[in-house]
Order: sequence, then C-alpha cells, then structure tokens
Amino acid sequence: MKINLNFIEACSLLEKNETTSVELTKIYLKNIKEAKELNCFNTISAEQALDDAEKSDIRRKQGKLKSRFDGIPIGVKDLFCTKNIKTTASSKILSNFIPSYESTVTQNCIDAGLISLGKLNCDEFAMGSTNKTSFYGPVTNPWKSNKSEAKLVPGGSSGGSAAAVAADLCVVSLGTDTGGSIRQPASFTGTVGLKPTYGRVSRWGIIAFASSLDQAGPITKTVEDAAALLEIIAGHDPKDSTSSIKEKESFLDNLNSSVKGIKIGIPKEFKSDGLPVSTQKAWDDCKKLLQSNGAELIDISLPHTMDALPTYYIIAPAEASSNLARYDGVRFGIREEGENLIEMYEKTRSIGFGDEVKRRILIGTYVLSSGYYDAYYIKAQKIRSLIKNDFNQAFEKVDAILTPSTPSTAFEIENEPNDPVQTYLNDVFTVPINLAGIPAISIPFTNDENNLPIGLQLITNSFEEQKLLNIAKNVQDTINYKSVPKNWWKS
Ligand code: GLN
Repeated sequence: MKINLNFIEACSLLEKNETTSVELTKIYLKNIKEAKELNCFNTISAEQALDDAEKSDIRRKQGKLKSRFDGIPIGVKDLFCTKNIKTTASSKILSNFIPSYESTVTQNCIDAGLISLGKLNCDEFAMGSTNKTSFYGPVTNPWKSNKSEAKLVPGGSSGGSAAAVAADLCVVSLGTDTGGSIRQPASFTGTVGLKPTYGRVSRWGIIAFASSLDQAGPITKTVEDAAALLEIIAGHDPKDSTSSIKEKESFLDNLNSSVKGIKIGIPKEFKSDGLPVSTQKAWDDCKKLLQSNGAELIDISLPHTMDALPTYYIIAPAEASSNLARYDGVRFGIREEGENLIEMYEKTRSIGFGDEVKRRILIGTYVLSSGYYDAYYIKAQKIRSLIKNDFNQAFEKVDAILTPSTPSTAFEIENEPNDPVQTYLNDVFTVPINLAGIPAISIPFTNDENNLPIGLQLITNSFEEQKLLNIAKNVQDTINYKSVPKNWWKS
C-alpha cells in the first residue's frame, strides 16, 4: 500500500473496501515500532488500537459508521487526558498519572470513530520549541540536512505530533499551540499545522499551560486533512466556559480554493535582516503566487509585533505558575515523602519538574508577586490589548495576513543555544497570534538549500478558519509540495 497516505486518501481506501481499519492500524503500529530512534511516542496503545479498529471494521460491514472518518489511525499529544491511558505531559511529575476522564477533543475523535495509536512526546508541559525539555528525551526530526548526518529538532512543543505525521507513524495527529507549538513544528517537518481561534476547540481535559492562550489543533499532511480534523474536534463544550457557542461548521465540504479579490496583508514588521535568504525568497514567491492567482497584496503595519515575545513570556509563565500549582504530590502524579507537608511539596516539585518548567514557574510567580504585578503582569496585559488592536485594524483592510512561520528551518539537536532567550526567539512570528486569539495555519511551501522544509504562515480574523483554509488550499494546490523525508530511521 502507498505510504505517505493522507487522511482523505485513507478514508477513501476504507470506503472502497481496499483496506480495513485493522490493516491500516497494523501498518502504522509497525511503522512506529521501526521508528524507535525518532522517539515520537511516550505510550503506544497497540492492543486498544487494534481492538478499536476491529470494532470500526464491524461498524463498516453493518453500515453503522460513526462518521465518514471512522477507522483512521491518529496520534495524540501526551497533553490530552485520555481515560485509562497514561497521560504525562512529558513530565516526571505525571509519569504515573492515569486519568479517569477523557478530554473533550479526544472524546470527539472517539465519537467520530478515529483510532488512537497512543500518546505523542512533547516538551514538558508544552513548554519549549525543540522537544528537548521532555522527561522522555528529545524527539528527532525525520528530516535531515542533505549536507550533514546530524540529528535535527522537530520543533516544539508538539514535536512528536509533527514528526509522527511526517514519518508516517499516524495519518494525522493532535497538537496544542500556546505560542506556536503546532505551527513551528509543522514548519520544521513539512507538515500542515493549524491553530484555531481561541474558543473554537474545547480545552476541557487538556493539561493546562497558559489557559488564556492554549488551543488544540490538527497537524496533518494536507489542508483538506486539517479541515477535516478541525471539523471533528471543534464545537461548543459546556464543560469549557471559554468555548464558543458557534454552530459546528463543515470546513471540508466548504473548501474552495479561489483567492480572486482576496486581500492579503504583508506586515512590514515581520521583515528582518536576520531572516534566511531562502525563507525570504519563499515568502516573496508566495506573495507573487497569490497575486497571480487573483489576490491583491497590501502592505500593512502591526506596530506592536516586536513587543509580542516579551509580553508572551510574562503572561504565559504567569498563567503556568498558577496552573502548575496543582502538582503538589497530593492529588496527581508522583509524591516524594518529606518530614512534613511543606517538605513533601518541595521535594515532589523539585524532583518532578524539569529545568525549563522551574524557570517558567519562577518567572511566573515573580511577575505576579506584589510589587511587580503592576510593572510586569498588568503592563503585559495592556500590551496584549494593543497587539489585538493591531490585528483588528489590519483586518479592516485585509482578509488575511501572510508571514513566514519561523525565523529558521530545523536546527541540530546538539546545537541549541545555551541561552533560553535565543530559543524563545523561535516563536517570534507565532506568539502574536495566540495573544490576539485569532487563527493561523503553517503550510509547507518549499525546501531550503539544505533540503529542509520552510513553512509559511497565514492568519485570519477570529472564527475565519474557513477563509484561512481556503487560501491555504489555493497555495497548496498551486505549489504542489510533495517532498518527504528519506526514511533513514527504519531499523
Ligand atoms: N515555544 C513556546 C513556549 O515555550 C510555545 C509553546 C506552546 O505553544 N505550547 O512557550
């Protein structure tokens, strides 16, 4: 059977009875087994997956499919709580945590008949851009430079989710994006990553990092697949008070790739001398492509773009420090005994959290402490409003905004800078979108001089995912990006 199968192709093979869910599931489980070197999975649920696939095949025979996507194998970031299946957030502190409940997003996938193959490695509590903060070790990008054998980062924090799709370890996957964690790894692995509008997808049962920024979304091979998976996971959830009451939409059926008359904004603040020549060229080529397909290009300004990163790195740690207070050795995860309660807390948290998580907790508690609250946290909230306002004004003039997804392509695992601020710079193009709560997608556009994928980012106004997907499809269909990594990892 063809490898490099996408979601829509897999559905069509099932529909035509050219394969079964059990057969598909076995192929992906074999691929996972052969790809140990990539370290994508924290937990593989082989037995459960085969059992679920068998049930899907029976439903198909009986004409009782749960949805047209019934029977397709999916991978789930290890941040979504899954009933009776270990959920660790790639942290030692949750290394023994087995939830008694299912997140709304994964429940929606179960209700559509999708088959979960297991839990995908990520940065610890989704904090990172390289996957190196995982307690379970880094994920390796299936892509390698054509000039070196060095292993590359897949991006983060949903690095396992992106690498698994790129390496055919699942058909599609679920990630989460607080500051870029779906789009940046998608960009580094030649996959499509969509961060929905804040409130489009329920956060219930997803381990919280920064609650005002977190959104779950799809990582896929194509724009159609992203539309399909978004359709499955989106929708109002009474269990999440921030979830939108908007009606469910049929993103896949409503896909229309025309960009005639569409206005595309090019923000001048995203231009930088530090941008690699190949990324700048990809961006320029995409502008020309959209223009020749009938779109109009408009220069715009998002004046607070450069304030977004420092703003994010105050708000996200502040919320994280509060969210992570619940891991105290009492209710969830591991406990390290102490002489008294305080010592037990201290020991559990010292042993249970990794360095990056501790750094965020320290920054977060600092910016929230009395005396600094006004100077940092309140100030950051004010700048957040200005950033949102920049986008509001831009969307009075344009339908969508086009930018690069990341300032570089995938870099070597060993070569990550020691200074965490350098790593934080990976998110410079993605964090403004989370602060504004709007949707954005990263799509692979071309490869750089080292044959590594370059992703471009499209952004639209709140709840305009359909428009976003349509423009992305126009680009996808015009360039027909077909590059796949060489499968050097197969043992
Ligand atoms: N890299 C960013 C961070 O470390 C974004 C993480 C995310 O989106 N989950 O905070």
